[in-house]
Amino acid sequence: MSADTENFLSSGNYKYKINEPLSKHTTLGIGGAADFFVEVDTEEKLISLLKFVSKNKISFFVLGGGSNILFADDGFRGIVIKLAMSSEQLTNDAEIISVSAATSLPDVVRQTAERGLSGFEHLAGIPGTVGGAIFGNAGVKEYSISDNLINIEIIDFNGNKKILKRKNINF
Ligand SMILES: Cc1cc2nc3c(=O)[nH]c(=O)nc-3n(C[C@H](O)[C@H](O)[C@H](O)COP(=O)(O)OP(=O)(O)OC[C@H]3O[C@@H](n4cnc5c(N)ncnc54)[C@H](O)[C@@H]3O)c2cc1C
Repeated sequence: MSADTENFLSSGNYKYKINEPLSKHTTLGIGGAADFFVEVDTEEKLISLLKFVSKNKISFFVLGGGSNILFADDGFRGIVIKLAMSSEQLTNDAEIISVSAATSLPDVVRQTAERGLSGFEHLAGIPGTVGGAIFGNAGVKEYSISDNLINIEIIDFNGNKKILKRKNINF
C-alpha cells in the first residue's frame, strides 16, 4: 500500500508527510504517528484522494482543526487527511452565508459579527473549523450550529458531491 500511496500522492502534487506525529496537529498535543499525513488544499484533490482510498480500501481520517480529537499513542495506520483550503473571507452582506468546511469557525464568528449578522454569536470561543463544527453540531446549551443551517454540500467517501438539506440530517 505504501509505495502505491506515495506514487499517487507525489504524482498528484499533494503536500504530504510520512510517519507524521499527530501530536503536532491536535489541540491537546497527543497522538502517535500517521502513516501518511496529507494536506489537501483544493476540492479537486480531495475528490481524487477519496476516490483513490475508496478504490484501494485504505483507512483514512478527516481532520479539521484537531480541537476535539484524541489520537492514540499508536498513531493511525492509513491516511490522515487534513483539510487545508485557505480560510474563506465572506464577500457579500447577504443574510445567508456560504462557507467552506476548512474555514476557521472563529473567523466566521468574527466576520459575521462585523457585518451585523446574528446567528453565530453563541459559537464565539469555540475553536476549530466549520466542518468540525458541523460534524459534531458544536454549540452551547441553548444553541447549536445546526439551528441556523440551511444545507450542506458534502463529498462522500467515494468522492461524489451531494447536497443534504438540514431537515434530512439527523444531528
Ligand atoms: C478550549 C476548547 C473549548 C471548546 N468549547 C466548545 C464548546 O463550547 N462547544 C462545543 O460544541 N465544542 C467545544 N469544543 C470542542 C471543539 O472545538 C469542537 O468540537 C469543534 O467544532 C471541533 O472542530 P475541529 O475542526 O477542531 O474538528 P476536529 O477536532 O479536527 O475533528 C472532530 C471530528 O470532526 C470530524 N471532521 C472534522 N472536519 C470534518 C470535515 N470537514 N468533514 C467531515 N468530518 C470532519 C473529524 O473526523 C472528527 O471526527 C472546545 C474545544 C476546546 C479545545
